[in-house]
Amino acid sequence: MLKLKNVSKFYYSKGVIASGFNKVSIEFKIGEFVAIVGESGSGKSTLLNVISGLDSYEEGEMYINGEETSHYRESDFEEYRKKYVSNIFQNFNLVNSYTVYQNVELVMLLNGYKRKEVKRKVLELIDKVGLKKYRNTKVSKLSGGQKQRVAIARALAKDTPIIVCDEPTGNLDSKSAKDVIKLLKDISKDKLVIVVTHNFSEIEDIATRVVKMHDGKIVSDKEVIPTEKVENENIKESKSIGLFNMIRLGIRNTFNIIPKFVLIFVVFLFITVSLLSVYASLQKDEYEEGKLGINYYFNDMRDTRIVIKKKDGSAISNDDFNNLRMIKNVANIVENDIVLDSPLWFESLDDNPFNLYGTLVDVSLFEGKLDYGRMPEADNEVIILVEPYDYYFTDKVEEALTKTYYYQADKGAMSIKVVGVKYLDEGMFSFSFGTENKIYVSSSLIDKYMKDINREHSKVTVNLNNKNYESYNAMGDSHDIRVSPRVPKGRAYVSEGISFECYDYNCKNRKLSIIVDNLYYSDKVDLTISEVYNEKNIESLLWINKSDNRFGSIFINPEDYNRLFNKDSYQASVIADNVDNVDAVSDELEQLGYSTLQIRKTLDNAAGDALKVLKIMKLVVIIVLVITLFFISYFVIKLILKSRNVYFSTLRILGANFRHLKRILDIELFTNASLAYITYIGLILLTKYKVINVKMINNIIGYLKIQDYILMYIILVVMSYLISTRFASKIFKQSAMKSYREEV
Ligand code: ADP
Ligand code: MG
Repeated sequence: MLKLKNVSKFYYSKGVIASGFNKVSIEFKIGEFVAIVGESGSGKSTLLNVISGLDSYEEGEMYINGEETSHYRESDFEEYRKKYVSNIFQNFNLVNSYTVYQNVELVMLLNGYKRKEVKRKVLELIDKVGLKKYRNTKVSKLSGGQKQRVAIARALAKDTPIIVCDEPTGNLDSKSAKDVIKLLKDISKDKLVIVVTHNFSEIEDIATRVVKMHDGKIVSDKEVIPTEKVENENIKESKSIGLFNMIRLGIRNTFNIIPKFVLIFVVFLFITVSLLSVYASLQKDEYEEGKLGINYYFNDMRDTRIVIKKKDGSAISNDDFNNLRMIKNVANIVENDIVLDSPLWFESLDDNPFNLYGTLVDVSLFEGKLDYGRMPEADNEVIILVEPYDYYFTDKVEEALTKTYYYQADKGAMSIKVVGVKYLDEGMFSFSFGTENKIYVSSSLIDKYMKDINREHSKVTVNLNNKNYESYNAMGDSHDIRVSPRVPKGRAYVSEGISFECYDYNCKNRKLSIIVDNLYYSDKVDLTISEVYNEKNIESLLWINKSDNRFGSIFINPEDYNRLFNKDSYQASVIADNVDNVDAVSDELEQLGYSTLQIRKTLDNAAGDALKVLKIMKLVVIIVLVITLFFISYFVIKLILKSRNVYFSTLRILGANFRHLKRILDIELFTNASLAYITYIGLILLTKYKVINVKMINNIIGYLKIQDYILMYIILVVMSYLISTRFASKIFKQSAMKSYREEV
């Protein structure tokens, strides 16, 4: 059955070679009960380990059933151990965190028994070794004698022709020792039992053969009871653990040591939380960066805003607006959308003038509560949204509300009164090129202001005596245009100050044209200069004072002015209810015959290069983070799993092969990682649906998409697989016995 010819075993450790045993030749048969005796250090354990295929040998030949084994690889010895050998050790070699039942069951699962037969047989064997009462007790709670009986039950469960026992009673009291020896005798029929002992007397009556070792050599070998030759014993077909049982063991191992489970769970939770948080904060930066895109054209840079014009260039009619309001996912429509991008300034015209600055918004869109004052009642009453450190509307708010404010400090222009104030939240601040100040006015007032806004956005040219002069919208400038009802339609009154521009220094009766050009339209009015004013006649002509700041401007009739600037709406803005719907709304608008401009895209483009750099940086950050997290987790988990070395070498001693053990470890880490992931996703869902309120989670959920969560899970699974692989390759590199010895 087993034959050794001049076999030697050496130990190499730290450059020193020690001999385990030297040139040993011996043969064993089935049916024998062999006692190996000899003083400590004589090589008995080493011999047993080599015979069991747990350790390698360096010299000579070993035959198993006549087959030479020098070409055997680790996997061949795994196969050999599985089919032929059960071991019983002095220190029991059980899985302490398993119950008695689980320990015995383990070896059967690893050897591919079906679950049904396992249960019956395990219970039967536990009964046989007298531990029925303890079957659900963890073996760490048992006495030495009980533990050794579990080991014997386990050896029986494996049902191999060879049982190798290394000092099975070495740690037992004499009563327990007797029981164990008796059990060994009971099971020894039709098997080869090899027992190492330094207390020969306990097996004197049973042993059929006594081998004595000394200093690594066999010094005597006597058959004391002749044994009949039992040959051709039934060697069972070797089977392996199935996937289902691997999953069962993996899941059992996940939870069997609670502190270990909790620590690994925390590591995976930490990976999940930190990766998702960092990723979300990078997403947030990118988003903010996008919003901050340099955009010189639009003051209102809401990412939900879509600017539209009709493709045919015509004005947008009331019917058009009604149709636009029917589109799905539209929050509101700003008809004169140019007001969004045209902050206006107003000033009170008194001895202590106050300033007011902001974009006009239809008062019906005002949300929230006023911090001061009341809502508007009359057409010229407004409420304002200003920064909380605005000097005029915080410290002096009482006085500010008594004043009348004139557009551009122009007494002839429209005026408003402020009746209520709301302050911007701290949270509403964001670095932006525009202002967030708002002036809420009635829609009719917005219509009236459109002409001022159109003028702000237009290039205005005055043509006089065939020469063009740019008209600055600055009061008193010599080509600045102002209105006065005193000027008849089709006429203009100019200041004496521009007489040199006219032929012969005489401007009266000359032609004067005003040309308006902007993004939406061009128009022109032709006027005749009917009066030239100076300090003396200004009061009788225009009814204004010579010290008025409009002195010097060109005055025209309001109707002519309106013809130039009071136009229909050519451009409007559609505000989507959600950024995610902007594309859908745009498509719909395009189909209805509008050309669209998504504000968020103008921002992206403007900051394009910065965003590209940011994206690359993001990728680098994520990769570095994943690698760092991998190593941190690997080392932490390695420390935690360190005690698992014993478990895995025990499994190898029991006949499990590398692939199966690796799979069981994979499943253990995978289960733990998935639980950590599910826990975090659970917290996210609870936060999302407002069952709980975790600030950290609240901050990130808006920036994560479903694919990010899926990717996160994949990363986690891959990481747990890599950690398992790295760990497994470390502990399985050595022979089963070596890794076992190192850890015990
Ligand atoms: P026994 O079991 O008879 O007490 P061993 O087989 O344990 O003896 O040891 C035989 C010899 O091998 C001893 O000289 C011992 O020092 C040496 N030896 C055993 N194990 C190792 C080891 N892991 N590394 C180095 N030398 C060892
Ligand atoms: Mg020994």
